[in-house]
Amino acid sequence: MHSTQIRSTFLDFFTSRGHRQVPSSPLIPSDPTLLLANAGMNQFKPYFLGEVTPEYPRATTIQKCARTSDIDNVGRTNRHATFFEMMGNFSFGDYFKADAIAFAWELLTQGYQLEKDRLWITVYEDDDEAEQLWRRIGVPADRIQRLGMEDNYWSMGVPGPCGPCSEVNYDRGPAFGGEGGPAVDGERYMEIWNLVFMQYQRGEGDRKGDFPVLGELAQRSIDTGLGLDRLAAILQGVGNVCTTDLLLPTLKTVQELAGRDYPGNSEQKVSFQVVTEHARSIAFLIADGVLPSKDGRGYVLRRLMRRAIRHARLLGIDGPVLPATTASVIGNLGDVWPELRTQSALIEQVVAAEEESFTRTLTQGTRLLDAAITRTRTAGSTSLTGDTAFELHDTYGFPVELTVEAARDAGLTVDEDRFATLLTEQQERAKSGGKAKTAEALRRQDTYRELSARHGRTDFVGYDRLTAEAIVL
Ligand code: ATP
Ligand code: MG
Ligand code: MG
Ligand code: MG
Repeated sequence: MHSTQIRSTFLDFFTSRGHRQVPSSPLIPSDPTLLLANAGMNQFKPYFLGEVTPEYPRATTIQKCARTSDIDNVGRTNRHATFFEMMGNFSFGDYFKADAIAFAWELLTQGYQLEKDRLWITVYEDDDEAEQLWRRIGVPADRIQRLGMEDNYWSMGVPGPCGPCSEVNYDRGPAFGGEGGPAVDGERYMEIWNLVFMQYQRGEGDRKGDFPVLGELAQRSIDTGLGLDRLAAILQGVGNVCTTDLLLPTLKTVQELAGRDYPGNSEQKVSFQVVTEHARSIAFLIADGVLPSKDGRGYVLRRLMRRAIRHARLLGIDGPVLPATTASVIGNLGDVWPELRTQSALIEQVVAAEEESFTRTLTQGTRLLDAAITRTRTAGSTSLTGDTAFELHDTYGFPVELTVEAARDAGLTVDEDRFATLLTEQQERAKSGGKAKTAEALRRQDTYRELSARHGRTDFVGYDRLTAEAIVL
């Protein structure tokens, strides 16, 4: 089943059951506590909190999501992307657990024709009701597992709504990992759909521990998320998210540029996936008004671009990689997401400028990094100094995460505490000198602003309006 049909099957199913089809919100959220949209429920937060009454009690969306927290998983698991489309259905004080479970089961087993025997369910450890509902629908007890707070409990802010969740997982078979169900192995038993049952008001306390629940919410709500990429991988019978129709044309572009075939050896496989997957995130972020910068969401974008460039070089691609790969994303997904086409010239120019500036220093920086790795090993140490990481950051524009990744590939760690100290010292110096930005940074920022202005963006939100909480993302 092609992704176009997967999307329409989802939306048709829920619109014919009384859900209002609502467009995706942009990746730059209107919620100031959030760095980037990362779930379908983000745009409905005021409805769930009861601050605003929606015109419709049920909604369905396909939401653009960015999850930088999954960046290191790309290429290392088969199921994580930094950008993905999340299909969701929502009830604002309307239907609850029983219907949410029945809808999910019907759509998966009839709409998408997934084999029932391959579906495994997790429920929150105390949630007898959810387990009973799944059993009544026909799931055998030995394919329902209970998980704790960490995996199967959802909450948002304090005070705020919270409640247990229940997840549907698909058994991809022994080729993907060990037995034991989703509680044991997330690669073989891939999570596809999360159903959140918002029911309680959360009080003070630690998110990961047991936290006090103040009582029932005025209205009980449903929030769900089904990952399009993961479902496409299953329905198209492919091993990972980069070989679905969503990303395959881009993977092909990477193969052409590299002059070699996917997957190659295990390191090349990771690099192929990183370049392919990041190209999509980069195109979508720029289309929604994110521009590269030193912090906030601009830094997320820069980090994705620099990581993709580094992995392209590892594949032997010496010339530009981002213009061709992002162009292939636009070609493949531009019909579904027209903002890609509207902003295609901006995307092209931003990636070309960033790649040019990073390439200038990448070779020298890589040489320095390789030498430092050799030195570290020769000295019998397993940790690269924070001073080296800082020099790479400061002189060569290497995001520290890149240094950490390269060191990890060589079996080393990085003294990140020392790096942090040096970075803080430098920031203090810059502040007291009244010059927080270097001439180079300013010049580059002006270039991007100019590009953006030329392409008629009016909704650029700036780099600075972000909270510390959001940056943790
Ligand atoms: P996982 O445990 O696999 O990291 P999650 O529990 O973090 O997933 P949720 O926050 O429950 O994911 O999001 C709902 C759905 O969105 C998931 O069930 C999955 O199908 C999809 N999803 C989540 N993260 C990713 C990702 N990084 N790439 C692709 N799809 C994702
Ligand atoms: Mg996750
Ligand atoms: Mg999970
Ligand atoms: Mg989940």
